Amino acid sequence: MVMPMLDDVLYYIEANVENSLSDLKEVLRFPSVAAKGEHMKETAQWVADHLEPLGLKVTLHKTAGPPVVTGILDVGAKRTLLFYDHYDVQPAEPFDLWDSPPFEPTVRDGRLYARGVADNKGDTVSRIWALKAFLETETVLPVNIKFVVEGGEEVGSPDMPEFAKKNKDFLKADGGIWEFGGAGIDGKQEAWLGLKGLLYVQLEVERLKMDAHSAYACILPSAPYQLVWALNSMKDRNGRILIDGFYDDLQPLTDAELKAIAKVDIHKSDVKDHYGIQAYLNDLKDEELKEAYYNAPTCNIAGIGSGWQGMGSKTVLPAKAMAKVDFRLVEDMNPDDIAKKLRKHLDSNGFEDVKMVSSDGYPPGKVPVDHPFVDVVNRANKIVFGHDIVVHPTSPGSGPLYLFTDSVPMVSIGVGDFESRAHSPNESIVIDNYRLAMKRIAVVIDEMSRW
Ligand SMILES: [Zn+2]
Repeated sequence: MVMPMLDDVLYYIEANVENSLSDLKEVLRFPSVAAKGEHMKETAQWVADHLEPLGLKVTLHKTAGPPVVTGILDVGAKRTLLFYDHYDVQPAEPFDLWDSPPFEPTVRDGRLYARGVADNKGDTVSRIWALKAFLETETVLPVNIKFVVEGGEEVGSPDMPEFAKKNKDFLKADGGIWEFGGAGIDGKQEAWLGLKGLLYVQLEVERLKMDAHSAYACILPSAPYQLVWALNSMKDRNGRILIDGFYDDLQPLTDAELKAIAKVDIHKSDVKDHYGIQAYLNDLKDEELKEAYYNAPTCNIAGIGSGWQGMGSKTVLPAKAMAKVDFRLVEDMNPDDIAKKLRKHLDSNGFEDVKMVSSDGYPPGKVPVDHPFVDVVNRANKIVFGHDIVVHPTSPGSGPLYLFTDSVPMVSIGVGDFESRAHSPNESIVIDNYRLAMKRIAVVIDEMSRW
């Protein structure tokens, strides 16, 4: 049931959709592309300038890269709600695939088009305006509010581990809203409760001082073969990863998570059509397919190179070979541990010369599906969108969620939808979803006071 005070807040939001959209368009005009490091300070300042008038104590934290903007409004309430957002965006190239310029926000057929509108400036502004609605209607804010808005999410959040270490206390809250989300292919709103971890390694082999004539393959060692054998030793043809101890720390899905995924439709035939495949990996079906989607770690060759790859033939025995391999990790796997196990695997299988020239990553993060904050979000969704939110216990993708999940139960919901094309040309949101998502945040704030 909607409380009378909240009615004012929701009415205000409804009456001010256009005003909030003009704020959104303003911030969308900053081409704050993290990969290029351009316009980062102005965009951070824009965020600070829009949080401050709401009564938040705002700080721009210096980092090695763009600043992290934080804001806190402590009203002495029992509960605290934290928002994690980012003001940086992906590069907009190739420009010619955009129907309207990426940094000139344009409305067509009820959708707002611009780089970063779905990921994640639309979310950021909808959250600012939900809070503004409480202030403008003089409705007592029933929770304390915190914002963390960083500028390096699209390049892997390189400054966030350091920031999180230095600001441990700030990152404590009873509930948190993670950056992205929205409606799935069937139009139903979705919530994501976790992200997989990642280990990314570059493997290199050099067996000759220089490339040789391939006639010498009868007497000289081959770098590409050595690499291929090494890769082959890491995974069997059924997808089982053969690195000793790889699965040791893997936690199976809990009963509550299995129950949650039983309710989720992962649209398996649409995905099949999308990629043009007849069957999934190892002919995975039904519950097994779902469990793999949410909880299978992976060993994937992301790139591989050696020797002649140009037109025609060149009979060469390449001196070097290289592969980039990524591992998606699930609860409780740790990237440093897996990197060590991989090194040991290579060494004990005759691949001492396969060098790991770089190794990078972060652990997975997840919120229990039965956490009371998940219920708060669902109640808010039901009030605004009229249906139970689709709960994904985790996502097959990765992100630095682990920095937060020890101290905040993070739930990812947002203004996007299946057609939003985050990271691609013609990124957009449905304005009506944006309006409702803004209301949903207001109701989350309200429902949190009753938890
Ligand atoms: Zn994002």
